[in-house]
Amino acid sequence: PQLRQRRGGCRPRLLRAPPKTTPGGVTPARTALRRHRVFCQLPNGDWALCTVLTTSGDESVLKVSEGKVLRLKTESLQPANPEILDGVDDLMQLSYLSEPSVLYNLQYRYSQDMIYTKAGPVLVAVNPFKNVSLYGTEYIDAYRNKTMDSPHVYAIADAALREMKRDEVNQSIIISGESGAGKTETAKIAMQYLASLGGGSGIEYEILQTNPILEAFGNAKTLRNDNSSRFGKLIEIHFSTTGRICGAMIQTFLLEKSRVVQCAVGERSYHIFYQLCAGAPASLREKLNLKKVDEFKYLKQSCCYSIAGVDDAQMFRTVTEAMNIVHISKEDQESVFAMVSAVLWLGDVSFTVIDNENHVEIIVDEASETVAELLGCSIEDLNLALSKRHMKVNNENIVQKLTLAQATDTRDALAKSVYASLFEWLVEQINKSLSVGKRRTGRSISILDIYGFESFDKNSFEQFCINYANERLQQHFNRHLFKLEQEEYVEDGIDWAKVDFEDNQDCLNLFEKKPLGLLSLLDEESTFPNATDLTFANKLKQHLNSNSCFRGERGKAFAVRHYAGEVVYDSSGFLEKNRDLLHMDSIQLLAKCKSSLPQTFASKMLAQSDNSISVPYRSSAADSQKLSVAMKFKGQLFQLMQRLESTTPHFIRCIKPNNLQLPAIYEQGLVLQQLKCCGVLEVVRISRSGYPTRMTHQKFARRYGFLLLEDVASQDPLSVSVAILHQFNILPEMYQVGYTKLFFRTGQIGKLEDTRNRT
Ligand code: ATP
Ligand code: MG
Repeated sequence: PQLRQRRGGCRPRLLRAPPKTTPGGVTPARTALRRHRVFCQLPNGDWALCTVLTTSGDESVLKVSEGKVLRLKTESLQPANPEILDGVDDLMQLSYLSEPSVLYNLQYRYSQDMIYTKAGPVLVAVNPFKNVSLYGTEYIDAYRNKTMDSPHVYAIADAALREMKRDEVNQSIIISGESGAGKTETAKIAMQYLASLGGGSGIEYEILQTNPILEAFGNAKTLRNDNSSRFGKLIEIHFSTTGRICGAMIQTFLLEKSRVVQCAVGERSYHIFYQLCAGAPASLREKLNLKKVDEFKYLKQSCCYSIAGVDDAQMFRTVTEAMNIVHISKEDQESVFAMVSAVLWLGDVSFTVIDNENHVEIIVDEASETVAELLGCSIEDLNLALSKRHMKVNNENIVQKLTLAQATDTRDALAKSVYASLFEWLVEQINKSLSVGKRRTGRSISILDIYGFESFDKNSFEQFCINYANERLQQHFNRHLFKLEQEEYVEDGIDWAKVDFEDNQDCLNLFEKKPLGLLSLLDEESTFPNATDLTFANKLKQHLNSNSCFRGERGKAFAVRHYAGEVVYDSSGFLEKNRDLLHMDSIQLLAKCKSSLPQTFASKMLAQSDNSISVPYRSSAADSQKLSVAMKFKGQLFQLMQRLESTTPHFIRCIKPNNLQLPAIYEQGLVLQQLKCCGVLEVVRISRSGYPTRMTHQKFARRYGFLLLEDVASQDPLSVSVAILHQFNILPEMYQVGYTKLFFRTGQIGKLEDTRNRT
């Protein structure tokens, strides 16, 4: 169980000894210049492979592309790898690990549809934005039977399976990357591989069918990705003792509910709205009083109704079929769609001013009548919930009339929470259907598909939460790949020059410290009735200005130095989004409804209002008192990290080669920035200079001792191990002997394993 051959299914295609390197992993430039292959930087910043024609003084004349000649300062050139290393499938094999050589290698492969490349223990996946013929039964079988070993998601999934069985340890596949980089597709490809093992009773098929459902309700077209996941997802796939799939459990994180009531021009709300309107059969259409998409206010505001190449009506059928498969009854499906329609119609509910203080009542029209009908309440109840608020002031119950702005906010808050509750409810139903129950063995593989680091021109509360999550994941990544690595060497007395790595603990402290961290201060400010986004921003500046990861900006803005770069946040809307108020009146409205789903949602909301840990947001005791959004997210994140800590992680970093969602365009600058953000370059450098394979002396002696020609039965494990090393002529620079373990450089154990398997 101690064998940690971390290379997964990737065996270097070019078998050669690792090149001698300086401590930094880079050989001096002079060697390369002799080979006349170098990288030069073009005026647009891109690196181009070129040949040196002549060098005189401190300048070189270069041939860039066919016929084109340039004269450049020699010192600005970067050495390129020899041709034989073009397109190696593991970046670890590159002699020169410079940024241009990594970029070139990925591009070289990408241009030949080899979208997967290893970076030591990490799989890098460059989004092809087109169908590549790398998937399906044939490929799955090839990876299972080991007739194929080039880097692939299948190889990662296969390694996870093997390690789960061999080590009896749960595994995780952690997929990260920017929006549109291919995380969700990659997660599905991994699921496909695992599902192909079969489970009997069709459970594996059921698991795959959760994807269209969750995507319909949780994905939307954004400017970055036509199918952007607006939530994070962890799916834990359970296996029986015989290694077959026996169930699954899905956990979701932080659905972007603001999208339901508001979305930017050119984007869409959640797919299901359009799918339902386009695909509902006539009877359902009539029952739910559906209109065309461009007739609903919530959908109209972004002026975007369709997605190129997507047939929403067809998708609707796919989704309902998937719902059948995960055992959501036809009756429940109809209730679900009634809620979807109710949310749409809520957006059309309008108000009329009834006095000179701008107080309002809802207008009784098709919109309000349809909402009342679909929720199963009376128009009067709906009006009461949207136009009045019950409050307790000085222990006295009073009723406050709402202004137009307040009523509109209340309406939108209701729409958002009905939709978010619906999403949660669906996940629950799916989990019930996939539940392992008594068949549980405890072994599982979890796949995490979570939003990557985000830095836009304008960054708000959502980016704040997402980037906080990424700091946590980055720490997990660091710990596993760097810290554990180093500690293990040191513990076992191995001589290994320490390699520094970016530790992001300071940034995490900035978020999590109590009482003076970003999250605590945000929650504190959220409890003050008179606080505004500006007072919040000022409070941050007052308390955190001395923190090296924090920088106050003008007005409501502040900046955080994340591991992936500095992000300036605009605190507008932070307090409101964090409070995420849904007034008691709205919850009571749902509780009173005759339809079953609103009632279920209301009980859930009431149950979640845990007074013991809540903070009172307003003086009004009648408000729903619940955990703030940031605190709930933090809790989820801690739980997630705990779960991941107990697994062997496998990392996949998805890279988006262009912002146009088009095939065959590889923008170096964009790729480089992503490689830096996810630490790929660091990983390669560190992994290569280390000893990634290790085994205890006992285990090594037991596993390979029988291959020895001499009789060693009486000898201690260490002596046996050394004898094996000698017999197989493993060079001294390829291994180190620790107190308890043997440490090997990449590829060394392969030789022994091959011999062992042949014997
Ligand atoms: P977000 O964070 O916005 O959810 P994401 O990282 O999950 O983004 P995906 O939705 O997985 O991104 O991928 C975006 C698009 O890229 C897909 O809809 C698909 O068109 C294309 N794509 C990604 N991976 C592949 C692949 N392996 N083969 C073909 N196309 C792909
Ligand atoms: Mg996604």
